[in-house]
This record gives sequence, C-alpha cells and structure tokens, in this order.
Amino acid sequence: MARDPRFDILFEPVRIGPKLARNRFFQVPHASGMTNAAPHVRAAFRETKAAGGWGVVSTGACSVHPSSDDSPFPFASLWDQADVRSHALMTEAVHRHGSLAAVELWHGGAAAVNRTTRHAPLSPSGIPWMATHVPFMSSARPRVMDAADIRDLIRWHAEAAVKAEEAGFDILYVYAGMGYLPYQFLLSDYNQRTDDYGGSVRNRVRLVEQLIDAVREATHGRCAVALRISMQELRTRPSEVAPTEAHEVIGLLKDVPDLFDVKMDYSAFDCAASRYTPEGSHETVVDFLKSVTDKPVVGVGRFTSPDTMVSMIKRGVLDFIGGARPSIADPFLPKKIEDGRVEDIRECIGCNLCISSWHDGVWVRCTQNPTAGEEWRRGWHPEIVRRDGQGQVLVVGAGPAGLEAALTLARRGHEVALADKAREFGGRLRWESRLPGLGQWHRVVDYRMGQLRKLPNVSLYPESDLTAPDVAEFGAEHVVIATGARWLPHLCGANELPSGPLEAPRVYTPDDLAAGVVPEGPVAVFDYDSYYLGSAIAEQLAGLGLDVTYITTAGAAAAWGFMTNEQPLVHQSFAAKGIALRTLEVVTGFDGEELRLAQIYSGEERRIAVRSLVIVGYRAAGSALHEALAADAKPGHLHLTGDANAPGAIVHAVYQGHKTARELGVATVTARRDAPFAPRDFQLPEAAE
Ligand code: ADP
Ligand code: SF4
Repeated sequence: MARDPRFDILFEPVRIGPKLARNRFFQVPHASGMTNAAPHVRAAFRETKAAGGWGVVSTGACSVHPSSDDSPFPFASLWDQADVRSHALMTEAVHRHGSLAAVELWHGGAAAVNRTTRHAPLSPSGIPWMATHVPFMSSARPRVMDAADIRDLIRWHAEAAVKAEEAGFDILYVYAGMGYLPYQFLLSDYNQRTDDYGGSVRNRVRLVEQLIDAVREATHGRCAVALRISMQELRTRPSEVAPTEAHEVIGLLKDVPDLFDVKMDYSAFDCAASRYTPEGSHETVVDFLKSVTDKPVVGVGRFTSPDTMVSMIKRGVLDFIGGARPSIADPFLPKKIEDGRVEDIRECIGCNLCISSWHDGVWVRCTQNPTAGEEWRRGWHPEIVRRDGQGQVLVVGAGPAGLEAALTLARRGHEVALADKAREFGGRLRWESRLPGLGQWHRVVDYRMGQLRKLPNVSLYPESDLTAPDVAEFGAEHVVIATGARWLPHLCGANELPSGPLEAPRVYTPDDLAAGVVPEGPVAVFDYDSYYLGSAIAEQLAGLGLDVTYITTAGAAAAWGFMTNEQPLVHQSFAAKGIALRTLEVVTGFDGEELRLAQIYSGEERRIAVRSLVIVGYRAAGSALHEALAADAKPGHLHLTGDANAPGAIVHAVYQGHKTARELGVATVTARRDAPFAPRDFQLPEAAE
C-alpha cells in the first residue's frame, strides 16, 4: 500500500552538519544493556531498527575513559582498539540499510562511581549526584576537578572521537544530560567553581562548548557532532538576559553543535511510564529550542502516532522524531508508516519493562516485542518467522501469552484455533487495563487481535470454557494451554514467604475485584507482590470514594516500581488521592473489623479498623485443564505457557507465548553465545588521582 501523503514530511531527508539523514526517524541513544561484551547481540539489535526504517540509529552511552565506569549497570566503552572492533560491527550493520550510525560519548562524573575501575569520581565541585538513589547509590564522594582534569576530560573526548570515527560512526554526541559530568557543569547547584568554568552561565557552558569543538577538531569536521542536553532544571532557573537559563544556554550554543538532542533531567520524567504521563510529555520543556537555534532538533516523547509526529514537525517543535521505546516495541515503525500500514504498528505501552532491564543489568526486554534482544542469540526477527508450521493448533486462553502464541503460530502457517472462556479476549488485561493509568497497556491485546483478525488461518472462539474432553474432541495436532494464574488470599511472614490462606469475611484477591466485587470501605490493600497491581488497585478504590490504606512489607509503595520509573509517581499519586501508606509491615490477622499488623523487623504489633482487605501477594501457576490432559498426552502434543506455566509480569507471558510458538514441533532449538573482542594490549589509560 502507498503511504498516506500527509505523512510525507516524515520521510524528507534532513542534513546534520556534514551528514544527510534519509528521513526524520531518529533512534536516539538508549540503554540496551548490551555492552561491548555482546557485540553481535548489540549489532543485530541496532541493525533491526535500521532495517525497519530508522534513518539514524544510535548505540547506547559509551564511556570515554575508565574514570567513567557505571558498573554494575551495563555500559559500553571506547577505550581501546578492541572497543573499536566491537562497535564497528554495529556501524557496518546500520550502514547496510542506508542509515546513519550515532554514538553518545559519555563521562558520568559524580554519577559514575567507578565501582570496578576504582577511580575517585570526578565532579565540578565535589557534590555527589543522587547518592541515595538506587542506580547511583554509593558512599564514594567525588573529588573536585582541577584545570588539568578539565584538560584531560577534553582530551579523552577527542581520543574517543577518533576511535568512534574509526569504528564507523557518522554522528558523535557530547552528552550534557541526566546528571552526567558536562551537565553537572551547567547547573549551579553542582557547579560552584570560581574559575572560568563556574559562576555565570557563560562560564558554566564553556566546558560543553570546548568538548564539542574538541570532538569536531579530532575528526576534522568529517563527522557530525550532536549535543544531548537536559533542559528540565535549567528551564526553571531565571536568567537576567533570557526567559530562563535553558534559553540562555541554548542561545550561547546555538551555532556550536550540528544537532541538538533535548531531553529531561531525571529518568522518571525522561523515560516516563504511561501510567502517569501521556505521549509527547517533553514538549513543555523543549518547545523553545527551534526559536533560538537554526540547527536541527531531535526530541522524544514515546511517539507512536504518525499524526502526532507530523504535528511536532509542522508546529516547529522538532526536526527529527526521536524514538527509544517506540523503536524497541516496533523496530519497523517507520517502514509501516511508509508502506501505508499504520494499523500494523506495535505501539509501545509505556510500561518501562525495558528500562528495568538496564536496572537489572541485562539485555533489553520488551513487553510488546518479545524478539527484542533475541535477534542474534535466537535469530528472532520482529516481523518474520519461518513459515514451516503444519497441522492444527488449539490455543486455550487468550491472555497475553495465548494471543502471542496464536499469532506466531499462525504466522508460521499453522491452522490456529484460539479459545477463551470469556466473551472478550485479553486475559488479565481485560480488567487490569481498566485500572487508573493502565489504559495503554491494552495495546498488547489490540495489536495482536488486529493481526489475528487479518489472518485467514485463524479461528476465534470466545465464550468457550473448555474441559479436557472438549479439547480431546477438538482433535488438534498440538494444544497450547495458556490459561493464566490465580491470585491467592495468603498472608506472609516477615520474610515474605506465603503462609496459609486467610479465612475471614471480606478478604479479596485481585481476581475477586476483576470479577466485579467492590469492597466495603474502609479497605486495606496488603501488597507483597510490590509491582504495579497493588498500588493501581489502591488508586482505583480511592477513586470510588473509599477510605484506602495501602500496606507493604517493602520500604516504599510499589517497591519494584523503581525499576520501571513508576515508584516516585506512585507516591505522588497516593498523596494526591489521600491513600494512607504504611511500609515495612505485614498483616498478621483480620476478623472483618480489625486488621492486625506487625513491623517486619521489631515485630511490634499495631491494629487498624477496616471493613475489607485486598491481598496482592502470591500467584499460583498450574492449570487443572493441563493436568487433566497431561496424563494421556502424546510426546510433543501438549504445551503449557505463560502465567499458567510460571506466573510473572505481562512481559514474561508474551515472551513465553512467543517462545512456545517458535519452538513448537522444532526438533532442536539452539541459542548462540556472544563473546567480547579481547584487547590486544591490556594496558588501559589511567587517570591521575
Ligand atoms: P497469561 O498472562 O499467561 O496470558 P491470563 O491470565 O492473562 O494469562 O489469561 C488467561 C486466559 O485463559 C483468561 O482470559 C481466561 O479466561 C482463559 N481461560 C482459563 N481457563 C480456561 C479454559 N478452561 N478454557 C478457556 N479459556 C480459559
Ligand atoms: Fe514500550 Fe514497555 Fe516495550 Fe519499553 S518494554 S518499549 S515501555 S512496551
């Protein structure tokens, strides 16, 4: 199909200094967890986006020197020739598709506490960066850089730039964002210097300007030089000569880089969860750039709608549509717009499981795209599967796992029957996506249902509560059981191990609420699952006007939500909705009137009066249907997947469903193992202390 002419503007080539981008789709640098230890995995991950039509494809942050070491968080480096070889795989792969390759040269300063290299962290004025925030948490305090350190920093950028060009990168970034070293120079809170690099905005900008000049000179103007800069704090600071310090900084730098990449300062706002933040949320902070500079501007905002993208260009907010999460969820997003297949876009749901992978220190995982990170290891392409499926498959259960399994099996060529006892397909997302803020999560269902409905070899059977005899009678060659898990009404001990079920009036699980139960208030939500569901239920019940107390064994609400950038916003939301928060407590008993609690460390007992209790704790896998069928099943006939196999987040169910479908009937399943390039010379440059 031809592309809609109203999207033509997105496919215009745009100049970035000495380079020409083939369109306006710009995959900005984003963490992938793929360090130089996995060069083939990384190259294939980035190549898939170039193949999918992104005109510029960036790799993640690359340390310019061992004094910028983020371990245990995964980071790449450009320290030696082994690193050059490692990155060259990625640039060659990106160039094969006519896209430009970009690299973000990175020095973390006080935000990189050098746990492995053990250099004292560097900083403008000895002030730590968020030392009690989990990713940065450290008792190491940075030292103050002297004039020689500043010269070293500029030289390290120049040396890394030479290596980056050698590795084949077209666009080299200087990174003055997200709390990293050049950013620390920009902000007066961190920069209290009295030399030429501190004090006035002019002085605070000097280092960034010198870094850009050094990178350009080192590569003799052959590479484009981009500046990535965070504007959130600067935009709040008054300036004597401009509307804000952000305007003043950009005014001073307006002709210096070939491209501005603008973003927020803190991960929770920069990579904001859809639960609390809509598409395009950066606009209020970055909307002024183009009124100050003639250089092209790229920005992000979880853009998945081509109409919004066009509007960003036409209204003069951005020149390039930056994508990180939308490019992970659908590497082929630009190509689908180009081919007039907008309805096929697998839209990012804004769950931030991808960012949690970085916090976990592993390759990126994505709820919507189970192939992300598996392009090389398992040879999975996000759009193509081997068309080798034969015979009929019955998939029982149309939650995220069953939907993904059915779609992938149908693409393999199987005749697929998908049955669910509910009238509406979607499994747990039927109800969960109706909880406050989780509406966009329904895209997991919408995308798959949209694709399934297009395929002639798929039959859908809603309202089909299947028993073992039903399944046997159906007679499919393969049966995939994806019937989900159950929440249990179990309390737990101080060690969070589940104890027995709580027998008391008005005790509910999320399954009861999903079935339509509305608890009587005041209500307590006891959460030892600690991801999103407990806090989302508390928000929903508060929205119904109930008096809600949220109790958790952890030290914060939605404790695991720090991994997905949700946690700070959950706390803000609780405060706004009047939800009482109790931390580090377990529920020890309930009689329908009074809830007994114990502090998890001291054991001190507390009591509060509530009429109902919702327990969000522990889920049981297993399926009676599977057990009934397993006894007589022929080898290779019956497959258990998703939450019914092992309960997890939606990302796990989609991944399991995909894997089950890819591997069904395949005799030998293999996965490749990546390895780093060994440096020829083990000497690394050391920094003077
Ligand atoms: P997952 O996350 O693993 O996809 P879900 O709990 O989201 O699991 O979805 C499981 C789906 O299976 C639900 O929609 C449920 O209605 C359906 N289901 C459970 N048991 C049966 C059954 N015996 N027959 C048909 N559908 C079933
Ligand atoms: Fe989007 Fe979630 Fe995938 Fe991240 S994990 S790209 S937020 S769908």
